[in-house]
Amino acid sequence: MIRTRFAPSPTGYLHVGGLRTALYSYLLAKKHDGQFVLRIEDTDQKREVEGATAHLMEMLDWAGITPDESPHKGGPYEPYIQSQRTEIYQKHAEELLEKKHAYRCFCTAERLTEMREHQEKSKKAPMYDRHCLYLSDEEIQKNLDERKSFVVRQKIPLEKLVKFKDLVRGNVTFAAKTLDDHVLLKSDGFPTYQLANVIDDHLMEITHVIRGEEWLPSAPKHILLYESFEWDPPEFAHIALLLNKDRTKLSKRQGDVSVEDYIKKGYSKEAIINFIAFLGWHPGGDSEEILNLEELVELFSIEKVHKAGAIFDIEKLDWFNWQWSRRKFHDGLHKFAKKLDQNVQIESPKKGEFKFKFNDPENAKEFFEHRTTELKTMCFNSLADAYKEDDDFLRKVLLTVEEKILKDHKNINEYVSFYFEDKEYDAELLTHEKMKVDFATAKTALEKIKEKFNDFDSFEDEEKIKEILLTTVEELGFKNGQVFWPLRAALTGEQFSPGVFEVAWVLGKDQSLERIQNALDKLENAA
Ligand code: GLU
Repeated sequence: MIRTRFAPSPTGYLHVGGLRTALYSYLLAKKHDGQFVLRIEDTDQKREVEGATAHLMEMLDWAGITPDESPHKGGPYEPYIQSQRTEIYQKHAEELLEKKHAYRCFCTAERLTEMREHQEKSKKAPMYDRHCLYLSDEEIQKNLDERKSFVVRQKIPLEKLVKFKDLVRGNVTFAAKTLDDHVLLKSDGFPTYQLANVIDDHLMEITHVIRGEEWLPSAPKHILLYESFEWDPPEFAHIALLLNKDRTKLSKRQGDVSVEDYIKKGYSKEAIINFIAFLGWHPGGDSEEILNLEELVELFSIEKVHKAGAIFDIEKLDWFNWQWSRRKFHDGLHKFAKKLDQNVQIESPKKGEFKFKFNDPENAKEFFEHRTTELKTMCFNSLADAYKEDDDFLRKVLLTVEEKILKDHKNINEYVSFYFEDKEYDAELLTHEKMKVDFATAKTALEKIKEKFNDFDSFEDEEKIKEILLTTVEELGFKNGQVFWPLRAALTGEQFSPGVFEVAWVLGKDQSLERIQNALDKLENAA
């Protein structure tokens, strides 16, 4: 049975890197029908922030990576808060003392400062000088009788080479002589991270420890502790740091690092989780990238986690967010279409280019209603003004900017305003050097379209608009762009816009003709 854990210290917000550690731990456990445990490591009480534990639990619930065992839920290995387990650590520290894998250190703070200053001056690594390792039993007893305060230090077996196989980094070796006889139990009886972490991972039967690379230097100390207790160590996977675009360590100074910040910015939960999962992991091959939690569980494997640091790229998060709003939108449409018509044909459902073909035109109409109502709801506030317009018109408008809505519905006004007002623009917009559209070409094209549109009454049918415009191209012996560019510019007054057939379809005959005439007047004045 695989058991993983997320073991944060309650020092404030949930860091995006923390969420990734929790997520990978959850994915690994769930992939193998195992259990995921939340343990709060609050042994450094000075750093604790009030409410942080509750916040962490809330965030995991929000993400849907709910622990099977936690301070909230309890479980067979409770308590899951380290400050409630001090007796357990003290008992185990006692065991290490007895086995001579640890020793009491009575050094005063002054002595330690002096020692460190001395080491600094002589350019030696700052390490405890083992002064108390050599105290005789009598001296120790005397100190205890005098109630001198002490800490318990790990006695590092200096001659050893500590080796282990990290699931991400491969074989790792540390020379024990580079390790400090660090403190395991503080003078107030509280354990340090090193001691409590090892004891709990063992007692809670954790099989796989996934954590940030910053803990790699602690791993050999942990392995030595496992040996001292004669316990089997768990498997370790140290995952690489998250980096800013300039490859420096992801920091608050360069942007937001708390998950909450991104929720507040409006990124969807699915997008955040999907993005975080891909920070340093990829399912490989040409696998889909837009994955929900269950799909991530299915595809996850720790062997595919990258060794190199992952860049926290907001543009990628934006992309995931867009893809996710698309997926949710299309999933909703898909369901609705199925409900309407069992025989509906759905083309290329994976690429986000859904095409629904209904046998019954009534179904198609109802589907169109539904689709546009959904779009309208998405950008209701930003369209509040335009909303007063004719409803059918607005529905059509929205359909032409569907992708934009899914990407960024807040600024949708910018993209649709040309439908509602005649934009100011220069005659030059009607020309295009690369497409070989000069004033004369634009004029010829627009005049011809005007003529065609005057005799054309099927503006309800986008396909027919397309047909008539393609015929125009042919009759003029022009290239597509030489007709479509000036027409698009005339109809929208914008550099970028939805496609020309769609725009003509939305504007209808009168509006289209009016705008074409405006453009022709502009060309007249420019000549
Ligand atoms: N309490 C440590 C932290 O805050 C846990 C490190 C580990 O997973 O071993 O990240």
